[in-house]
Amino acid sequence: MELKTASIQGVKLNYYYICKRKLWLFAKGISMEHNSDRVLSGKVIHENSYPRMKKREVLIDGLVKLDIVDGDYIREVKISSKMSKADRMQLLYYLYYLKEKGVEKKGLINYVKERRVEEIELTEDDELEIEKAVKGIEQVLQLKSPPEVINARICKKCAYYLFCYVEEED
Ligand code: SF4
Repeated sequence: MELKTASIQGVKLNYYYICKRKLWLFAKGISMEHNSDRVLSGKVIHENSYPRMKKREVLIDGLVKLDIVDGDYIREVKISSKMSKADRMQLLYYLYYLKEKGVEKKGLINYVKERRVEEIELTEDDELEIEKAVKGIEQVLQLKSPPEVINARICKKCAYYLFCYVEEED
């Protein structure tokens, strides 16, 4: 089945909502995430969380990797809810992607630090927002140079922090 939107990695949608410069750098293969302790601890938490839940990891089209939990839900595990809008949109994109393929699921986001689980359902408004975001992502990726540094509090925790601010100071 032809998808209504281009297929993209879910993480790109996540970065689109966090910082368009981050999205651009990541998409161009400038990867520094392995330098980030936050990402490393995220992986450890992901591997050790909720060991008793019945789950299956599924890779769809070599692009979207999902935890399927108890059949009805797909799940994302996040350290905290600081980026909840971006996390929510990423999971909604997965629900959208599956729906386009004829599979309807609901989503769960486990926020580990807060020990909180949020249930996510895809609405028509969400679908429109996702379609708009995917177009926005395509526009960002067509830029010849990265979007401006955003000078936000989150920059200090970003894997690209040195890259962005050292480059700025030169
Ligand atoms: S350091 Fe800030 S401006 Fe640079 S990519 Fe990260 S969030 Fe964006």
